[in-house]
Amino acid sequence: MGADDRAALEAEVVGLARDLIRIDTSNPPGNETPAAEFLAGYLGEAGIECELAGPDPARLNLIARLPGTGDGPSLMLMAHTDVVPAPPDNWTVPPFEATVRDGHLVGRGAVDMKNELAARAVAMAGFSRSGGRPRGDVILVAESDEERNTAGVGMSWLVRERPDLKCDFALNEGGGQLLDLADGGRVMTVSIGEKKVTSLRLRIKGTSAHASIPDREKNTLLSVSRAIERLLSHDFEPEVSDSVRASLDAIGAPSGSDTERLEWAAGQHSVLADLVPVMTRMTITPTGLETFEPSNVIPPFADIVCDCRALPGQDEDDIRGHLAEALGPGIEYDVEFLEPLAGGFESPVGTVLWSICEQYVEERFPGTALLPMVTPGFTDSHWVRQAFGTVAYGLAPVADTDVDVYLDSMHGADERLMVSDLVTMTGFHRFVLDRMASG
Ligand SMILES: [Zn+2]
Repeated sequence: MGADDRAALEAEVVGLARDLIRIDTSNPPGNETPAAEFLAGYLGEAGIECELAGPDPARLNLIARLPGTGDGPSLMLMAHTDVVPAPPDNWTVPPFEATVRDGHLVGRGAVDMKNELAARAVAMAGFSRSGGRPRGDVILVAESDEERNTAGVGMSWLVRERPDLKCDFALNEGGGQLLDLADGGRVMTVSIGEKKVTSLRLRIKGTSAHASIPDREKNTLLSVSRAIERLLSHDFEPEVSDSVRASLDAIGAPSGSDTERLEWAAGQHSVLADLVPVMTRMTITPTGLETFEPSNVIPPFADIVCDCRALPGQDEDDIRGHLAEALGPGIEYDVEFLEPLAGGFESPVGTVLWSICEQYVEERFPGTALLPMVTPGFTDSHWVRQAFGTVAYGLAPVADTDVDVYLDSMHGADERLMVSDLVTMTGFHRFVLDRMASG
């Protein structure tokens, strides 16, 4: 690509990302329709068929389709249009002005994920304008309500009501961090799956009594405090699934016991130090506390609400077993699942799309290996993996933005991404579209 082409591409993708950030889609309430309409206007000008769909007129999803010739795999380019709210307190610029400062685009959604939305849209528009015809359908879905996922208007609605969106492959958020490892190697993360998620109510039981003559040892809240402490201090044994083993191999972990290999991997980068323990263990994290008595009564029970993330393959019995192990003796409790255990789907590596991604990193970042990860957070990849069996990868390469800036500013203040990474992300998606069209 010549310097002029690069400058034009940068202007286009940065301009689109800024326009999208300026449309405030804070969720709640979302109000994603103006963002979907704006994008439909942009893609329509590039000759791409666009449609708005959804059960709530204020929260429509965009479906933009380049029909394929039918002799190759179909690809969904996914990006949610909503963002988390941006209380302006700690921001140094207004969150919805899309300021460009010191080579960074700063604004709510600059990382999560109007950046990726713009990059995918610009790559698709460029492909269409160049007269490219994909072998399989290419469908860009810009969906609402990912961040809260409670209104049933976004991807959960689309997979149910629009079976025509079923694609063989999908690219979405969740990966693309370039990590320089302690041993000199370099990897790029790709999210290939997600942990299961549920929430629990632990009802810690005690004996009701009048608070005027307290028996200190029998106070129900003492058991509650012990339970919280034990939950927070207990480390479950790590479990090394096939996909974790694939990650360890990809990162170049020397042979040894599972524990040694995990320790080695965690020591390779601060991001991995955070992720390796949660990729290999269930987490049960207290997030709320409730009692139901007036202040002069020692309550007969109190509830600890917990966020629970289980590994793919673990079930409700495993959660009960892990709870018993962590809480230990002397605490009487009941557990209730506040919602069904959901998620835990993984996509295989070694597919056509995987090897195209490998070719991309070989060309653009020689010596870099793709690092498949099962991630602890939830993304809309879950829905297409579950409903359609789509092979979905979280990947949008970030070459220049400091990885801590990227991860810490996501959902935080001064959310920002280097402008050059918008160009990188666009280039990656164009590479994929060109390869899938020609391969
Ligand atoms: Zn997101």
